[in-house]
Amino acid sequence: MSYRPRRRHIIIVKGIRLADLLAPVEKPQTFDEDEDEVIFYEELPKEWISGNELPPINLKCWNCDCQINGAAAFIPHNPHLVDKKVAFDRFGAYCSWPCAARDAFHRFGGRKDYTSVVHSLAEAYFLATGVTVPRVKLAPEKTMMAEYWGNGGMTRGEYREAVRDIINEMEM
Ligand SMILES: [Zn+2]
Repeated sequence: MSYRPRRRHIIIVKGIRLADLLAPVEKPQTFDEDEDEVIFYEELPKEWISGNELPPINLKCWNCDCQINGAAAFIPHNPHLVDKKVAFDRFGAYCSWPCAARDAFHRFGGRKDYTSVVHSLAEAYFLATGVTVPRVKLAPEKTMMAEYWGNGGMTRGEYREAVRDIINEMEM
């Protein structure tokens, strides 16, 4: 048996450097299962300083799973001052303040710090909307929607309407 060394093919392409091929992806990237389309998700903001706009965000609501597509409410914690303005660290992203309140109840209800979360929610609500509320009321349980509850459950539209009613009631 004769030994034949394997041939190696080295292709040299001028003008392309390995570093260019391995350029880092700047944003996390995922594929929509149905569309096979690349979606770039925005980074979850870490802080909100009162007086600033709530930046729009293209994530799903952490409470009701709808696409937010606009300014996101959040669970505020760690109130502090930035240039003499009240600021909060942000947790989560929600389509509405009642959705934030519902998720806060799920996550922190019964814990020692829940009272301060409830207080911060009302304060952030006031700073974001200019409306004073004793507390941010909770959105209905998302499982009341037909997609969880089955026949007889609310449609997404009805759920959204219920949240709007809650906001109106709260601001009366
Ligand atoms: Zn929501």
